[in-house]
Amino acid sequence: MDIGFIGLGKMGQGMATNLVQAGHRVTVYNRSPEKAEPLVQAGATAAHTVADACRGEVVFTMLADDRAVEGVAFDDGGIVASLAPDATHVSSSTISVALSERLTAAHGEAGQRYAAAPVFGRPEAAAAAKLFVVAAGEPQVLQPLTPLFDAIGQRTFVVSEEPHTANLVKLSGNFLIASVIESLSEAVALVAKAGVDRQQYVDILTSTLFSAPAYQTYGGLIARRQFEPAGFAAQLGLKDVRLALAAAEQLEVPMPVASLLRDRFLTLVATGAGHLDWSALATLADRDAGLLSDDPA
Ligand code: NAP
Repeated sequence: MDIGFIGLGKMGQGMATNLVQAGHRVTVYNRSPEKAEPLVQAGATAAHTVADACRGEVVFTMLADDRAVEGVAFDDGGIVASLAPDATHVSSSTISVALSERLTAAHGEAGQRYAAAPVFGRPEAAAAAKLFVVAAGEPQVLQPLTPLFDAIGQRTFVVSEEPHTANLVKLSGNFLIASVIESLSEAVALVAKAGVDRQQYVDILTSTLFSAPAYQTYGGLIARRQFEPAGFAAQLGLKDVRLALAAAEQLEVPMPVASLLRDRFLTLVATGAGHLDWSALATLADRDAGLLSDDPA
């Protein structure tokens, strides 16, 4: 299949590479063009404009946030202006429910197709084609995309015919991961202050009642205080909690824990730590417990 891929950040690199390796003709575009070089080495073609990445049957976007996707989709020479009738925009970025609704309408008016396919899994999973794809869209739009989802992920869940529902499911999942990071950070600070070894404590949890991947991945990072390089940056965590809260407000669903998490991420960003992995929430729990070496005695 002829595919365009826009957004070659930490996630997009692996996803686009796996589409090439599955035998598709992939044309890649990234705002900072040097990130296209490894893809060209792998067999992709570099596009110099967004429009040039929209000549095929399908174009993926894997961009940072709403602002990036809005620009690439709606600017002059953007996806809506460039995609052929009946071609499909697959939006894999974690974006707002509201923007997904706007994209559904705009592509519909232009005679194009739109599917939301946000993903669970960090950059390592993207590189290994082990993502979980949460897809939503009309069946005739999703059906031809199946081999593409199979190329980037280990499993695809179709959750609705309305694309924005996939974005809501993704945001709810990230809210839950952030909740795990925060509560695990507080629990680790509690026992560490009493002298328990952080790694041993995480090993006890993850080999007994808390064996899920979220506890294993983030437990290890929190125990080792390993927040760089970021797999998923704290500023993206702030973005997602805000988007979950926006959806919750729209649906009139109180989420008090999400409000707390918004403030915790805001503290990280405000203190210059927004580039660290979102598991750096643990530094706040450690700081509050007086566990950091630069804390006042
Ligand atoms: P990233 O490494 O920061 O990459 C962001 C991408 O967006 C880059 O290609 C960047 O281009 C582009 N971009 C940012 N602002 C732009 C703008 N205004 N115009 C055009 N392009 C712009 O982020 P990532 O970790 O790959 O995440 C991408 C998306 O996947 C996000 O929505 C994130 O929430 C979601 N996600 C991430 C993870 C994870 O663990 N990392 C997991 C699941 C989902 P430049 O290279 O020019 O900066």
